[in-house]
Amino acid sequence: MIVQPKIRGFICTTAHPVGCAQHVQNQIDHVKKSGPIENGPKKVLVIGSSTGYGLSSRITAAWGSGASTIGVFFEKASDGRRTATAGYYNSAALELKAHADGLYAKSFNGDAFSTEIKEQVMKAIKEDLGQVDQVIYSLAAPRRVHPDTGKISKSVLRPVGQEYTNKSINMEAQQLEEVTLPPATDEEITQTVDVMGGEDWQIWTDMLEKNNLIADGALNVAYSYIGPEITKGVYRNGTIGKAKDHLEATARQLDERMRKFNGRALISVNKALVTQSSSAIPFIPLYFVLLSQVMKDKNIDEDTIMQIDRLYRKFLYAGDVIPVDDNGFIRLDDLELRPDVQEIVNANWDRLTQENLAELADLDGYHKDFLQLFGFGLKGVDYDADVDIEVKVPSLA
Ligand code: NAD
Repeated sequence: MIVQPKIRGFICTTAHPVGCAQHVQNQIDHVKKSGPIENGPKKVLVIGSSTGYGLSSRITAAWGSGASTIGVFFEKASDGRRTATAGYYNSAALELKAHADGLYAKSFNGDAFSTEIKEQVMKAIKEDLGQVDQVIYSLAAPRRVHPDTGKISKSVLRPVGQEYTNKSINMEAQQLEEVTLPPATDEEITQTVDVMGGEDWQIWTDMLEKNNLIADGALNVAYSYIGPEITKGVYRNGTIGKAKDHLEATARQLDERMRKFNGRALISVNKALVTQSSSAIPFIPLYFVLLSQVMKDKNIDEDTIMQIDRLYRKFLYAGDVIPVDDNGFIRLDDLELRPDVQEIVNANWDRLTQENLAELADLDGYHKDFLQLFGFGLKGVDYDADVDIEVKVPSLA
């Protein structure tokens, strides 16, 4: 089949298997170029490993540190007529390349919130790896079925306390617009915390501990976001911010427990980047295109693999003490939040109009990054060629 991008709103409903494989290869090349990570992890569990920050984490562990990796994700295989999701193709490529390089890689495709998937993963760790010395929690999910109560919670992106109005962008039409979001109800806040807060991370950690699967010195890391003033109304002071507050509070509790294993539980605050999840958040894509233009002009822009490669080398495995801020967080958003960067972003936000949009915002870069998430627009890929869309993840076949 010849696969073309089909964009609907903020997602692309097709993915290119060869392009996704190339995207994975580019990330592997980046990590290999930086050389081996000294004292890096050897047995790694990545929860949310198929796209975005989780995919880059799995790649950095495997090709930077020679780690055996178990990845958990929620993706769709191809049914022969429709392509698989990008995360499925990414994971297929990752496993094939890992196996070719003599690296253990096994994947679980299902609901990470469920007890069933957790039990399957525990069994695989026990049988194949013995224990894990690193856990990366990188889920971004729209809903969660609670494993005990069966309650279905949905994550919503809303301000808390009062409605919020600001500039936003309709990416498809490349039109600026003003968007108003009503305040979340208490139930919406609760449900968003249920989905994106720390409870599930804690359940994973409980099960690993109960089954004696945490190795001495293990690191257990979840990803968060803080962001600047401009996005506070909808992000950090909004429903998702409440969930991140909960995730961060969970990290403090888990850190106490991980210290029993001479390990740590930590939050890494990452940079805003185009991923399948972030492109769905109102206002964030507009902030992102302004930010990206400034960071590119200053030559300090990073993508997910650059961020995670830096996380491993400069923070997690840099020495005996992991550098953190006053709140105990690893700050990979240091460049994004640099005052000289934010000053220009703020000024540009204020003077932004439809007329100067293309000049101030990195619209082309956004479009390119967005398509690349689905395997399109990668150098070296022949998009006119007939490709097999029924590529399988070897450990799931
Ligand atoms: P993403 O959408 O690229 O990846 C999400 C992953 O979660 C995928 O592997 C997906 O398959 C998996 N997933 C979703 N629901 C699942 C389920 N029920 N069961 C199993 N797997 C499931 O997201 P991302 O942007 O890389 O976000 C990962 C984390 O990083 C999130 O906590 C996010 O808040 C955080 N973060 C993101 C940004 C950003 O700008 N993208 C910035 C800072 C922090």
